[in-house]
Amino acid sequence: MSKQQTPWTQATRTIDGDAPLVRLESIRKHFGQNEVLKGIDLEVHRGEVVVLLGPSGSGKSTLLRCINHLETIDGGRVVVGAEIIGYQQRGTVLHELAPAKIAEQRKSIGMVFQRFNLFPHMTALENVMEAPIGVRRMARSAGKARAVELLERVGLGDRAGHYPAQLSGGQQQRVAIARSLAMDPELLLFDEPTSALDPELVGDVLDVMRDLAAAGMTMIVVTHEIGFARQVADRVVFMDGGVVVESGPPAQILDAPEHERTKAFLRSVL
Ligand code: ADP
Ligand code: MG
Repeated sequence: MSKQQTPWTQATRTIDGDAPLVRLESIRKHFGQNEVLKGIDLEVHRGEVVVLLGPSGSGKSTLLRCINHLETIDGGRVVVGAEIIGYQQRGTVLHELAPAKIAEQRKSIGMVFQRFNLFPHMTALENVMEAPIGVRRMARSAGKARAVELLERVGLGDRAGHYPAQLSGGQQQRVAIARSLAMDPELLLFDEPTSALDPELVGDVLDVMRDLAAAGMTMIVVTHEIGFARQVADRVVFMDGGVVVESGPPAQILDAPEHERTKAFLRSVL
């Protein structure tokens, strides 16, 4: 019997299968004297959609950036998959991945920002092709075929040759989503992806995100779109002042919040 077939290994594999894709343990982060994250715990399982709500300045963007290693953390632990991204305490680095490992892992985490950040001198197609070919060293023809497929998936098959300036904000954001998908991410982080859009363009972007969720993508979404949270989120996490105030299924957090801060926030966005 090979080692993989021993009951012990099978048991381990089952546990691995159930392990969260993202595990944040007591994440702390400060900028100078300003403690922005005051010990955040969060687990996200594969295929789960977590919507992160909270007032401006509560630390939502910083938290996403810590997961993606755009920020270093000052305490706690960030685990994505089997890899510990950062593990620091009291300024002492206890464990940190080698830079090459970090770069490797960041490729498996897609991030979509409020501003679309497309390359203005490249067409939609070129924007989507750029990373798989440049970073992943995918063959140009395969990268192009995949980019065409992804643009079709976000409803922009007929806009492949357009430059960002020739596209609406909503279309640009959908190109940005296609561009993230081109790296075959295990996890997608969205930071207020519809906040910069004219209201009539929000729906198309949310529809694409809804499709991704239905297809089983693991997503952490910062948004003030309560309707989206209600329909799509498996879990809603409400943050304020660098802490998680409460979290739970959408119906619980959105319709029957326990904390006054959550109630006040919901009144302000509804
Ligand atoms: P949110 O996304 O919930 O609005 P942020 O994570 O952007 O909140 O910001 C949380 C706090 O951290 C704010 O007080 C903000 O001013 C501060 N902050 C964020 N990024 C930086 C930075 N690079 N340098 C200094 N302060 C920052
Ligand atoms: Mg933010």
